[in-house]
Amino acid sequence: MKADPFVQLRLLDLQALDSSLARLEHKRRTLPEIAEMSRLDDLVDALRDGVVRAETEVSDLAREQAKFEREIEQVRARRERDEGRLGSGAITVAKQLQDLEHEVATLKRRQSDLEDGELEVMERAEAAQAELDQLTGRREEHLTARAEAEARRDAAVVEIGAELARTTTERAEVSATLPADLLALYERIRAAEGGVGAGEISRGRCGGCRLDLMNNEKSEIRAAAPDEVLRHEECGRIMVRTAESGL
Ligand SMILES: [Zn+2]
Repeated sequence: MKADPFVQLRLLDLQALDSSLARLEHKRRTLPEIAEMSRLDDLVDALRDGVVRAETEVSDLAREQAKFEREIEQVRARRERDEGRLGSGAITVAKQLQDLEHEVATLKRRQSDLEDGELEVMERAEAAQAELDQLTGRREEHLTARAEAEARRDAAVVEIGAELARTTTERAEVSATLPADLLALYERIRAAEGGVGAGEISRGRCGGCRLDLMNNEKSEIRAAAPDEVLRHEECGRIMVRTAESGL
C-alpha cells in the first residue's frame, strides 16, 4: 500500500487520539469513587442485621415495659380501693379487717416487685436504644459518605464525557482526511492488536510493540520508498517514519 508521507504522519495523530479515547474510557470505568461506593455499600449491608436485631429488641422491651405498667396500675388501683375501705370504718368484723390488711400488704409487695421488674426492663431498653442509635449513626455516616462519593463520581463522569466528546470530534476530523484504504487497514490492525494500529519508528524501535528493529529490518526500511506503507513483521502494525526514527 502507498500513502503520502504526510498522510502517514496523520495516522500517528489518529493513533494518539484513539489512545486518548481508550485511556478516558478506562479512567471512567475505574474511577476510585466506584470502588469507594461499593466498599460503603458493603459496610451498610454489614450493619443491616445488627440494626434489625436492635430495633426488635427496643420494641420488645417497650412492649414488656407497657405490660409492667398495666399490671402496676391494676395492683395500685386495687390497693387504693382496699385502703379506702379500711379507712372508711365500714368494716367492723375483726377477721374481715385482718384479711383486708393482709391483702393490702400482699398488694404492696406485689407492686414493689413489679416496679423493680419495670426498672430492670427500662435499663435494658436504654441500653438497647443506645446500641440502636450507635448502629444507625454509623449507617448514616456510611450513607452520607456514599452519597458524597456518588456525587464526585457523577462529576468526574460528566467531565470525562466532555473530554471524550471533544476527542471524538477531533478524531472524526483527522480520520476524514485519510484515504479509505489506509484507514481501513489501520482500523483492522487496531481492532486486532489491542487498540494500537500504527506507531512511530523512534530511535530504531517500533512504536507499536516497542521492540528494537533488527539491522536487516532497518536497511529494508531505509531502502523503501517514502510513500510505502510499512508494517512491522513482528507485530503487524503500521510503522511510520519521522525525523526521530533513528534509521
Ligand atoms: Zn511492532
